[in-house]
Amino acid sequence: MEKQNKACYWFLFFQDKLLLKKNNGSYQIPYQENAPFGTDNSFEVVLDSSLSARAASLSHEITEDEQWIMIGLRASWNYLPLDWYKRAGKAHQLVHWDRNSRFCPACGKPLAWHTVISKYCDSCHQEFYPVISPAMIVLIRRGEEVLLVHARNFRGSFHGLVAGFLEVGETLEQCVRREVMEETGLTIKNITYFGSQPWPYPSGIMIGFFADYESGTIKLQDDELSAGSFFSKENLPELPAKLSIARRMIDWWLAGEPAEKPAF
Ligand SMILES: [Zn+2]
Repeated sequence: MEKQNKACYWFLFFQDKLLLKKNNGSYQIPYQENAPFGTDNSFEVVLDSSLSARAASLSHEITEDEQWIMIGLRASWNYLPLDWYKRAGKAHQLVHWDRNSRFCPACGKPLAWHTVISKYCDSCHQEFYPVISPAMIVLIRRGEEVLLVHARNFRGSFHGLVAGFLEVGETLEQCVRREVMEETGLTIKNITYFGSQPWPYPSGIMIGFFADYESGTIKLQDDELSAGSFFSKENLPELPAKLSIARRMIDWWLAGEPAEKPAF
């Protein structure tokens, strides 16, 4: 069991599950001197300059008891204050990267932590940083309607927004146009930036745009989308969970796109 000289927050994961300590009906990130359970190679994470924290993978899942519970990272949004959910997301991205960057991709020698966000290969003299995968997400308006789709990889029956990963050499706007054309057969115009949100499942960032329908009839890409059409405000299907940028974008559109955008 690892020991520290002073107490710190412990962000401990088994796969995508986060360890939480129960405290009179609420839940919190454990704060103590020693790791509460056996970990392999914990490392320091800087989440906020005023917080001392470490993160690691657990060697096995902790069974729920009176003191402890493990919660999926997405579901932890329901258990933790928003700031702590965001910190847990960053810690999880680093834990995921730590597990998947044990060796130098150029020469195969073991990599060691160099700074709190990088590793270094002593042999190649190269520094490596966590990979972040940018994905575009777009809300398309057509008059008073909005395009909502159900993607086959959604966890649930809700409808969300068209989204897809950035490819090498693309601008963000080109990616938005390409994804909309590939997935729905539509062309769009007036692409404007909305906002972004880290999406640590396991290492993404969602970059949100608004756009207007220009032309075309909906032809769904069958292997990605199982449903998709334009909906009016009065006739909406089940919407994504509140924690997602998709929901924030839909809610902002429903509110009439007020000057102030909802922050994450
Ligand atoms: Zn190397």
